[in-house]
Amino acid sequence: MKKVLVLEDETNIRSFVVINLKRAGYETIEAGTGAEALEQLRRNPDIKVALLDIMLPDDMDGFEVCRRIRASNSKIGIIMLTARTQEMDKVTGLMTGADDYVTKPFSPAELTARVDAIYRRTGGEEEAADPAAIQYPPFLLNTRNRTLEKDGQRVKVTQVEYAIMKLFLENPGKALSREEILSEVWGKDYFGELKIVDVNIRRLRLKIEDDPQTPKYITTVWGFGYKWGK
Ligand code: CA
Repeated sequence: MKKVLVLEDETNIRSFVVINLKRAGYETIEAGTGAEALEQLRRNPDIKVALLDIMLPDDMDGFEVCRRIRASNSKIGIIMLTARTQEMDKVTGLMTGADDYVTKPFSPAELTARVDAIYRRTGGEEEAADPAAIQYPPFLLNTRNRTLEKDGQRVKVTQVEYAIMKLFLENPGKALSREEILSEVWGKDYFGELKIVDVNIRRLRLKIEDDPQTPKYITTVWGFGYKWGK
């Protein structure tokens, strides 16, 4: 069963989300507080995607829940539900480890498209013809268990970050447009914003670059996109 956690304190919004996800074939696990969400994740380790509302009534907001989940789980897909539209919030959410965000009010089609895209990324679908590993010293991308190593040390990456790394390592030296990265990583039917590409790459650079301020692996192609290597 495709399990999705829905953390939302407003019961009418939660019901709306749950009904639409069920209609799209997901099993939903509900939580009204951050503490409940973390407890449900402990009880249901097979949850593949978590939807986290940011504004919650108790001490722990959605960002904090996201941070705590990411501290021990890099595989799960995380989508923030935000009522606010400020870029800062979206960026903060993504920098704390979320893969995507949906701004309220959202349509059922938009919600399920986002969940479907992240679900596919979290290993719901495996690409069978892949080689077992892609090497680009000092990096090793293990495609069997979807992990990344640098100098033999495991780098904790989210599934979206893994997919971006894979795209780069399969196309070293090739300039990839932001549209191309969005389409390859998030899916062709995804209709989110290009900004999500930049934020994910910013976060990935923090994890893989020797000096994230002057990246030498993921380099910027001004006015176009990104490239692996110089
Ligand atoms: Ca709320």
